[in-house]
Amino acid sequence: MNDPHSRVLLAEDEKSQALWLGNLLEKLGYSVEWVANGYQALEKLRKIRICIVMTDLVMPGMNGFELCQAIRKMRIDHYIYIIIVTGKEGKEDLIAGFNAGADDFMHKPVEEKELFARLQTAHRILNMEQTLLNQYQEISLLSITDPLTQTYNRRYFTEQLQTEMVRCSRYGHDLTLILCDIDRFKEVNDTHGHLVGDKVLQAFAKTLSQGIRQEIDYLARYGGEEFILVLPETNCEDAPACSERLRRAIPSLIFFSETGSFGITASFGTVTVLGDRVGAYPDVDVLLKSTDDNLYTAKRQGRNICVCSKI
Ligand code: GH3
Ligand code: MG
Ligand code: MG
Ligand code: MG
Repeated sequence: MNDPHSRVLLAEDEKSQALWLGNLLEKLGYSVEWVANGYQALEKLRKIRICIVMTDLVMPGMNGFELCQAIRKMRIDHYIYIIIVTGKEGKEDLIAGFNAGADDFMHKPVEEKELFARLQTAHRILNMEQTLLNQYQEISLLSITDPLTQTYNRRYFTEQLQTEMVRCSRYGHDLTLILCDIDRFKEVNDTHGHLVGDKVLQAFAKTLSQGIRQEIDYLARYGGEEFILVLPETNCEDAPACSERLRRAIPSLIFFSETGSFGITASFGTVTVLGDRVGAYPDVDVLLKSTDDNLYTAKRQGRNICVCSKI
């Protein structure tokens, strides 16, 4: 069973008890991982994604309370719902169990109907946690994505570049930055309308992203019709060729509007930071300024060209 909510880790030192509870759980459709003490339970939890733990209190080595505390200290990316199952009566253990981090408490002998009801509660909590996690991931992705082109946005780029520069400086690798801007894009909007302009931006971004190494390089919308590409470990020999390849791909795009078909070009400003400047990497702003200067030069020299340099 692959659903982590359908798996139960059972920590119980008495075999007969484990068999009894294990059978009940299997009858209810769960797969059961049985361990005989807290240490083994922790080991399992580190290896397998399990979201429900049922634990006995009195076990050799690490007992149920200690197991609860250890689980709550674990660094894992999901919630673990803990049910203490004990033969002991009395409020003290119940209170101590909750204080140690347990979510629920059951007395032996466990009955099927009660077990089912308590596991329903576990699912309610785990499902709620999963929903929150999914929403969080969705919002995180939205917060770094440009809605029109689905590329990364400037915020992501700014955060990542800093990290990238630290990494390149540590390992002495070159880092290339390419800033590109669609030529005379205002005319596209003026002639063909804003909606067509949006389609052009989408196609432009798609072509750029298809021209870089997936999972290594990345593309972000820098603003308006300006995009920035980050190429880690790309040296100053490869950077001009890469920029040229991207530039040449743009005029082959053909767009259609009520006013007719048309094409576009773009200008590129490229800068490579040399890896042998270990520990002396320029400030991010200095790097961006050089890239912007090169783009400006490309525009001034007539557009549809790449201007590359190294620092
Ligand atoms: P240059 O060759 O010097 O770069 O000229 P340009 O016309 O491309 O540059 P300019 O900065 O004058 O115009 C950029 C235009 O990009 C103006 C702005 O309306 C348009 N633009 C910015 N963001 C969007 C967008 O999301 N959608 C559309 N359709 N247009 C946009
Ligand atoms: Mg026991
Ligand atoms: Mg432009
Ligand atoms: Mg611009």
